Amino acid sequence: MSDLRTHAAEIAEQFSDHLDVSEDEVEERLRNLVEEYRVPVEEARRSVVNSYLDEADLERDEIGRGGNDEVHLTDIDEDEQWIDVTAKVVELWEPQNEAIAQVGLLGDESGRTKFVAFETSDLPELEEGAVYRLGNVVTDEYQGNFSVKLNRTTTIEKLDEDIEVGDDAVTVEGALVDIQSGSGLIKRCPEEGCTRVLQNGRCSEHGDVEGEFDLRIKGVLDDGAAVHEVIFGRETTEELTGIELEEAQQLAMDALDTSVVVDEMRQDLVGRYYRVSGPELGRYVLADEVERLTEPADPEAVLIKARSI
Ligand SMILES: [Zn+2]
Repeated sequence: MSDLRTHAAEIAEQFSDHLDVSEDEVEERLRNLVEEYRVPVEEARRSVVNSYLDEADLERDEIGRGGNDEVHLTDIDEDEQWIDVTAKVVELWEPQNEAIAQVGLLGDESGRTKFVAFETSDLPELEEGAVYRLGNVVTDEYQGNFSVKLNRTTTIEKLDEDIEVGDDAVTVEGALVDIQSGSGLIKRCPEEGCTRVLQNGRCSEHGDVEGEFDLRIKGVLDDGAAVHEVIFGRETTEELTGIELEEAQQLAMDALDTSVVVDEMRQDLVGRYYRVSGPELGRYVLADEVERLTEPADPEAVLIKARSI
């Protein structure tokens, strides 16, 4: 089969439940774009798919793409890509939002990524510890963190094999040169699976909500050669600052201002040296472990090392 014929067959298959469309017709439209208008094949494909979506009054995620790339979890670096993955279900969490059927972590040789399956997709349940080939999942990105969404076109094949899940933690060290906004005493959206930080009491997804207090530091470490953005969650922030959540709330209440908390943290932390280890998510290192260094970090040394498994 020619390249165009293969694409045409896949597109016709994608729409077979929705439209009366033949491979010949699809191929003709693709050929017209590619040969007559010199449109690259991928672009022609997108254009033809979009016109059929319009015709069938469907959304993109209601059809499969077909013929996806098989991608390693930590290679995911783009939003809204249709991909296939082979991964182990490392962990399942209790979904507290009724729209979510399953939520947890998938792992492969490269590392781990969050996944979500929605009730409306009506998929078979994944078992913790089992390995699956998941066809047609969609990537999602939020603040540099990537995850995958299972959807109604996702194919699930349980494999009789195990995967040694990779450790994608890195270690960075350097002087803490800045604490970014959104640090200190913050409020998060209470919706399950959301946890977005509220801006003036609003979640960008769920609007006005009664937020839950949390502690976080978004810091910048400078090793003399490069800067690394690091996020400290509540536990590591408490450890780092010696200020516990309740104490932080008390400080803020006394001052009638939450920003006193980050001001206090800034005074204590900025200019000091730290070594931080944890998984890399997007441009951030999520601090699992943090150690205060007495000696300044050596800028000549190789300062980022992948921790061996
Ligand atoms: Zn929210």
